[in-house]
Amino acid sequence: MNVAIVGGGLAGAALAWRLSRRGVRVTVFTGGSSRWADATGASGGLVRGFEPDPAAAAAATESLAEFRRDPVLRSWAGYQELTSTYVLAPDDDTDRTEAAVRVVDGLLPGSARIRPAAGLPFRGLPAGALAVVERHAGYISPARLRSSLLTDAVEAGSELCHVPVTGARPDPAVVLAGGEVRRCDALVLAVGPWTPRLLDQWGLPGQRLRTKQIQYTLGRAAPPGLGAFVDDTSGLYGRPVSAGLFLLGLPSDRWQIDPADVAADPALARRVTIRAAERLGLGAWPGAGARTVASLDCYPAGRGGLRLRGAMPGCPVFTFTGGSGGAAKTALFAARRAAAELVGQSAARRGA
Ligand SMILES: Cc1cc2nc3c(=O)[nH]c(=O)nc-3n(C[C@H](O)[C@H](O)[C@H](O)COP(=O)(O)OP(=O)(O)OC[C@H]3O[C@@H](n4cnc5c(N)ncnc54)[C@H](O)[C@@H]3O)c2cc1C
Repeated sequence: MNVAIVGGGLAGAALAWRLSRRGVRVTVFTGGSSRWADATGASGGLVRGFEPDPAAAAAATESLAEFRRDPVLRSWAGYQELTSTYVLAPDDDTDRTEAAVRVVDGLLPGSARIRPAAGLPFRGLPAGALAVVERHAGYISPARLRSSLLTDAVEAGSELCHVPVTGARPDPAVVLAGGEVRRCDALVLAVGPWTPRLLDQWGLPGQRLRTKQIQYTLGRAAPPGLGAFVDDTSGLYGRPVSAGLFLLGLPSDRWQIDPADVAADPALARRVTIRAAERLGLGAWPGAGARTVASLDCYPAGRGGLRLRGAMPGCPVFTFTGGSGGAAKTALFAARRAAAELVGQSAARRGA
């Protein structure tokens, strides 16, 4: 089996690595020199098991548990352990939260528990707010992990091609700048926030995928006693970065931005400053030398996150995207599932 993967972000790299470990011949088309200006390069790298949706918690916890048990992956990703605090929205469904915590507990026993948010270092939380506190969360460098996964895939026989891809054909094949056509047995478009634009340009069905801006600021602060956190009552999220620096962000409302047009939103950065003062008492945020990072991720219309989706009815052409702003934490699991699906579908086609 010979698989072409267009896109060398974390999604494409993790899938190439999984497939190469199964003995599949893979060519990764990285798109050339702009390949690092992507979601993977900008990612905040927060990894935790808990998500309010139990299915998303399963994908995130599987990935986190794999980092924790595999020292090689841990060092490739630069994994650092931190506690994670997830303050739940007041209207959160308690049964669903408990189910998600059980999922985390199944793979990382004793890591997650639900507790009153009172007593945690947040100000002005709604009365009775609850939080899920996880001992074994942390952060990784998605860009570093991507590089190591690609290097290992190449050592196992995969090929990297840096010539830009200008089209996808149902045979299946990729069309390279200059007109060269590369045939394959299955073609996967792992092009993250470029997916809606490329599906449109290449005459493929739209798949109800949209891009959304994600933005955070690196500022000078050290909120005492706070590791990684998400506060669903205000939208604020963050983590320590290195001595004296902290990452803080709020969800943006910028949808359907083209990757060529992404730019930091100053109004959103100001809202982070206001929330940082309200919730964390950080009156001097973000301080001297602050830097705001803005990029995009690809979101599916429904739930589902990063997964393989058929792009051309009846043809082995797929997208592998839908990170929804959180695929660094699910990529290992999602790539394992996608590799198994590709290998299984190929075996079924040969048997038919
Ligand atoms: C600012 C930000 C912060 C984030 N923080 C977190 C976090 O804290 N925790 C977490 O779990 N997740 C986080 N995420 C989400 C996570 O980083 C992304 O879901 C993940 O990196 C997406 O990877 P990808 O490979 O799908 O996309 P990308 O990394 O964008 O990769 C797509 C690749 O396709 C390439 N490409 C485009 N067109 C072509 C072409 N024609 N030919 C060949 N290649 C092409 C691009 O150059 C790019 O390299 C964050 C995302 C952003 C943007």
